[in-house]
Amino acid sequence: MEFARLAEAFEKLEAKTSRLEMTADLAELLNGAPESQIGKIIYLLQGVIAPPHRGIELGVAEKLCIDALATVTGQTERAIEASYRKTGDLGGTARLLLEERKQRSLGASQLSVAKVHDNFYRIATASGQGSQTAKTRLLAELLSNASPIEAKAITRFVTGRLRLGVGEATIIDSLSYAKAGDKSLSKELERAFNLSSDLGLVAETLYREGMHAIRAFKPTPFNPIRPALAERLPSAAEIIGKLGTCLAEGKYDGLRLQVHKSGDRVEIYSRRQEKITHMFPDVVAAARRQIKAKDAIFEGEAISYDEETGRFQAFQETIKRKRKHGIGAKQKEIPLYLFAFDLMYADGKDYTTVAFAERRAALKALVSGKGLIELSKAVAVKTPAELDAFFEECVNAGLEGVMAKDLKAPYVAGSRKFAWIKLKKSYAEGLADTLDVVVVGYYYGKGKRTEFGLGGLLTAVRAEQRFKTIAKIGTGFSEAQLQELRDYLTKLKVPKKPDNVDSLLEPHAWVKPELVVEVKADELTQSEMHTAAKTGGRGLALRFPRLMRIRYDKSAKEATTEKEARGLYESQKTH
Ligand code: ATP
Repeated sequence: MEFARLAEAFEKLEAKTSRLEMTADLAELLNGAPESQIGKIIYLLQGVIAPPHRGIELGVAEKLCIDALATVTGQTERAIEASYRKTGDLGGTARLLLEERKQRSLGASQLSVAKVHDNFYRIATASGQGSQTAKTRLLAELLSNASPIEAKAITRFVTGRLRLGVGEATIIDSLSYAKAGDKSLSKELERAFNLSSDLGLVAETLYREGMHAIRAFKPTPFNPIRPALAERLPSAAEIIGKLGTCLAEGKYDGLRLQVHKSGDRVEIYSRRQEKITHMFPDVVAAARRQIKAKDAIFEGEAISYDEETGRFQAFQETIKRKRKHGIGAKQKEIPLYLFAFDLMYADGKDYTTVAFAERRAALKALVSGKGLIELSKAVAVKTPAELDAFFEECVNAGLEGVMAKDLKAPYVAGSRKFAWIKLKKSYAEGLADTLDVVVVGYYYGKGKRTEFGLGGLLTAVRAEQRFKTIAKIGTGFSEAQLQELRDYLTKLKVPKKPDNVDSLLEPHAWVKPELVVEVKADELTQSEMHTAAKTGGRGLALRFPRLMRIRYDKSAKEATTEKEARGLYESQKTH
């Protein structure tokens, strides 16, 4: 397919705000494309060149783009920079420059989706000496054959500024519309996506093989599965009331890992489907040794254990491994355990559809010998008293609480269900649960904090595509966290309030709403200062909010919603 058609579709989509219209436009675009191009089109619409878990990132610096534009248009870099400063959009500048050029260069050829995708891929994977020159050349090749609109799309894409506003759900709906004329296939398509985290693959399967192949979708090693998530209830009595006899497991406060194995190859994915294998060489070795299956996908919570004190260490210690360097040293300092708690796939068998009791038995049979992979601590409980006793035991052992699991439930990827119910120690202290809020701005701080350039955070909950403020957080920070936050947030700083943020407060600096932090508070109150769940001029606010930790493992899309905050506010009245 010609790239021009995609660039035109980008233009149209950018101007649309109605999801329904977007869906219809996308369905038409997909139906007009050859089967072999569908996957690539989907990735380009998502602003990526491969599913995110492959970790193939374009990340072309603006400077490189300006170099390429200079080569193609014959303008000086300074002139291009000056025009960019005026528009604030390098894509817009590229379009203007190419319009001024009047004619395409001699010998220019029509760009195809495949050619553009291929050059993007080569730019992303070029490395080593001379790679900058190679990247500039590959980009210049595209730009010299591009029309003004195509140049705008290409420039925005490579600099990561292509914000079409088409989310995963819109793409799924448009695939359903393309094939059925309505949303009737969306649920099944979504399931396939949840099992593979690869919309390009889902779309291509749909176009090549049809719905029967979508229905037969199974987990496959190295396509991360979107995790099943837990609901919460405030007491053992309510949990037993909901589940009856269930399996209670220790709730480890660590890092959730999804381990994929096929033969000797092992990869590890985070809760957000990022490939994080490099952080866990010890888990990789243990998976090769302890997992008695050629192919397997299972999940567990990784947590460090302090041999001296005989206690598990806080999440912060475990996450220190996030640092790319010094992994060897860290490994010795804090030995890690992986407490396996679920099995999704083994040697051709899809376990996501079978009852948890069977999954747990298969997991037990799969993990063999002594090593850092162990099964999570678990007991079957029938009564609230038994659950409470197990809860006590877990908390005394330094765990965060318990997870009660429905023995009959399947593993429903990517959804929050009462198949798993968490009961945390923190429920007894203050507000029923912590909130995961998104940082939308920060304050420079007073006194000692001025030296860090950060003294507090303005945070928000999520409401569809918007962020509404719920708390100003000024306590709970360690010095290290202040520095870490300052470094991270400086990179996210934007000159004015982002359009998708609703705030009556004006922090010293606004940031792109991306970073999630976990906060604890005494209670939720109503306040005229905040915009979350606003009714009668008053929004919800956290009383005495304090920072617990930075949640790099959660995206803003997974932050606490306005609805959940309202639910917590309501439940305060009853508990
Ligand atoms: P969520 O993952 O539900 O969005 P969260 O990341 O804030 O929430 P919690 O609310 O504390 O975490 O609880 C869910 C998490 O608990 C799981 O995602 C998993 O990482 C962790 N966990 C620890 N032990 C277990 C266990 N035995 N079974 C399942 N999950 C466990």
